[in-house]
Amino acid sequence: MEPSMHKIDIDLVEMTLDVMKYAIDRISATERTIGQPKKEAELRALVGETITAKGIGGENAFNLWKQHLSKANVPVDHPRNLAFVPASPTRAAIMFDLVTSASSIHGAYWMEGAGGIFCENEAMKWMVSLTGLPEGAFGVFTSGGTAANLSAIVTAREYWRSLNDQNKVEKGIIITSIGAHSSVKAMAKVVDVDVLLVDTEDRMEASALQQTIEGLTDHQRKRLFAVVGTGGTTNAGIIDDLVGIAAICDKEKLWFHVDAAYGGGALIADSVRHLFHGIEQADSITIDPHKWMFSPYDCGAVIYKNPELAKKAHSQEGSYLDIFKDEGAHGFNPTDYQIQLTRRVRGLPLWFSLAMHGTDRYKEAVERGIELAQIAGKMIQEKPHVELVREPSLSCVLYRRIGWEPEDYTNWTYENHRKGFALVTPTKWKTGNTFQTVSRFCFINPDTTEKDIEMILDSMV
Ligand SMILES: *Cc1c(COP(=O)(O)O)cnc(C)c1O
Repeated sequence: MEPSMHKIDIDLVEMTLDVMKYAIDRISATERTIGQPKKEAELRALVGETITAKGIGGENAFNLWKQHLSKANVPVDHPRNLAFVPASPTRAAIMFDLVTSASSIHGAYWMEGAGGIFCENEAMKWMVSLTGLPEGAFGVFTSGGTAANLSAIVTAREYWRSLNDQNKVEKGIIITSIGAHSSVKAMAKVVDVDVLLVDTEDRMEASALQQTIEGLTDHQRKRLFAVVGTGGTTNAGIIDDLVGIAAICDKEKLWFHVDAAYGGGALIADSVRHLFHGIEQADSITIDPHKWMFSPYDCGAVIYKNPELAKKAHSQEGSYLDIFKDEGAHGFNPTDYQIQLTRRVRGLPLWFSLAMHGTDRYKEAVERGIELAQIAGKMIQEKPHVELVREPSLSCVLYRRIGWEPEDYTNWTYENHRKGFALVTPTKWKTGNTFQTVSRFCFINPDTTEKDIEMILDSMV
């Protein structure tokens, strides 16, 4: 018999060292490459069949990864990757991600994951403190903003259904704006509720929300149970009128969810904290540590003003689960507050990095992203070939290359990417009824330099 694949032999020891070396090289590299995708057929031709009855061997597989497959990705932490919402996990967090995997913790129930969940909860306490939510508010880490939004919408809907029998048979409605993230609309589909959109990509104002509510039929008004405001739109970094929206939700008895998946990191930045006023009145909040809290993928979070309502919506029942709910196992069970049962303790890397560096360093790193957006805004105003579409907001900058058609933006993006220089992608900005193609920066990585921005803008001349 061959030795079990779980047994330690000399090959495995060597492999461990190789893998550790790769991880250390990757995170301590001072020069990074932008990376390029390849077509599936090209990758297949390069690596051949990798899954076989006898295995191709660790060294062989790892070499295929290093030589070919690792290069066919576009790492999000390159300082000139300013596309979508990039990321820049701290070295401490990445190292602890390895520790998290190696520790094999089932993070659903305290009974099995007490130590890991304790750490997650320490990090969560800090996140909750940033929101200003009242005593008793708490949250859990999720796989991302999508899962956090889904968990919050399910909680809101279940609470609404519990209010009276009529609600149990109605299809619910939520209101958000067209600036809201695609995942809000996608998750509404999963939950099977209708979404009404306030027609603005700019700040959703209380008056516009009020108008939308007043425009509902009596039946629609009965079906309406929640409003989703955005704390930093993904496209432009815009924060809705959270104070005004909170007041309407309070008056109309609606659940108030704030999606701050991207912007939530900026709650720690003194320079912009005032823009989030009103978030402390939310019933639930989404924040993605894997965006602007420098955690590795994947790590989102959902926070509730009243976690008991989430527990009512999400707690799973099953005879095989009873033991976890036993007196002897008492503690905080993350599975009770979001959609997932078995889960990685994905808040652990954030905890370690926060514990190591302290929260001041987080503040500085987020402020740097905001400052880079301001710097980029000034440069754009000074250069004759580009102009701002709107003032930078949080760390997002929308700008135009004067005279360019949509295909010019696309060609420029591909050209820069092909050269391995930068990844800056176009987006659209809606004014009135027209969508304009524009260019967009989103700054997360504090290692992005002013020179990087200058070079990117100059490549548009
Ligand atoms: C990114 C983002 C999401 C989705 O989060 P994932 O982590 O990608 O699932 C939701 N809302 C907003 C505002 C976002 O920026």
